[in-house]
Amino acid sequence: MSHTIYLDNAATTPVSKQVLDAMIPYYCEEYGNPSSIFYSVGARANEALANARSRVAAALGCEPAEVFFTSCGTEADNWAIKGTAHKFAKLGKKHLITSCIEHHAVLHSMQALEKEGFEITYLPVDAEGFVSVEDVKNAIRPETALVTIMYANNEIGTLEPIAEIAEVCRERGVWFHTDAVQAAGSVPINFKELGVDMLSLSAHKFNGPKGVGALLCRRGVMPLTFMDGGAQERNRRAGTENLAGIVGLATALECAVQNLDKKMADERAMRDYVLKEIQKMPKVKINGPLDTSRRLPNNLNASFEAAEGESLLLMLDMKGICASSGSACASGSLDPSHVLLSIGLPHEIAHCSLRISFGIQNTMDDARAVCQALQEIVPTVRARSPLWHD
Ligand code: PLP
Repeated sequence: MSHTIYLDNAATTPVSKQVLDAMIPYYCEEYGNPSSIFYSVGARANEALANARSRVAAALGCEPAEVFFTSCGTEADNWAIKGTAHKFAKLGKKHLITSCIEHHAVLHSMQALEKEGFEITYLPVDAEGFVSVEDVKNAIRPETALVTIMYANNEIGTLEPIAEIAEVCRERGVWFHTDAVQAAGSVPINFKELGVDMLSLSAHKFNGPKGVGALLCRRGVMPLTFMDGGAQERNRRAGTENLAGIVGLATALECAVQNLDKKMADERAMRDYVLKEIQKMPKVKINGPLDTSRRLPNNLNASFEAAEGESLLLMLDMKGICASSGSACASGSLDPSHVLLSIGLPHEIAHCSLRISFGIQNTMDDARAVCQALQEIVPTVRARSPLWHD
């Protein structure tokens, strides 16, 4: 089988060997239910769960009691948003604020709330995808229940001014949630110093398993219970814990945080190399912040005029290279990305976009290979396009 160059680490990442080794015992040997504490296999599972919680807390600068495990990032977002909305609705507060470039886990949660009679403000972003702190300040009203703004955008990598927004929300006494699914394990995060009230993350974005995430909730901040059932997660999130997944999440996060400086430097070097090379090609537009310190270190997003993203992806795939033309969840749809439209790209340019996202398994050889491939493929795709005028 030929070698695959996987450059879609924003969609998901491979589980690292160290993480898998840490998870395996929790399937067939240490299979106890963490709630069954009256015999030793259950008590050991309970201890492993507490240990994982403490490791996550240590990696993110919060207290173990502030960590609640979920089934994915989407669940953490839904819980934070709907659980807060329903809690404050009882007090007559039915207004929420978000941005127009959030992941669908947030946007579709908001749309569901709109159908229930909540009012949502969708803040615009500038041409690089930044939310304005001033806009957040001006949008907050006495009846605002929640502000939710993503930490890092999954398509164009923009790192939002989260600490500043948190300060505004704190001053105004409004809860602030951030979807940090793309940021956790990719950039340094200290929950306490950041000052947010809630933060979502997902293990499969940092070399952990799929199907496990977490919602961090600052002490004193607790959205209404989202999953009804047993008393797991201190009565807040029912359902027998995915212990192997949780151990995998904790191990992956710990590894990512311990090696973060090197991971960021390596990813930045590969990304900056590709960025420089593709900028030499004609009619290329870089999407997201041009100041690369203000975007995720592993993210590159560019539009190649008159070269449709899907065609580029198929031709890259023929060369064994995996990338993305938008967010993974939007693939399969022919609608251009809401993020690219929100930063002001016309439809025909948004359709010609490619996202490349590096990960720990990539090397400079991969960066060189994708540049070489694009130098061949882009002119071929353009030559077939009626929109291309050389
Ligand atoms: N939020 C962002 C910014 C994401 O990029 C993703 C996944 O791509 C999610 C939420 C959803 O996370 P999960 O796949 O764990 O449900």
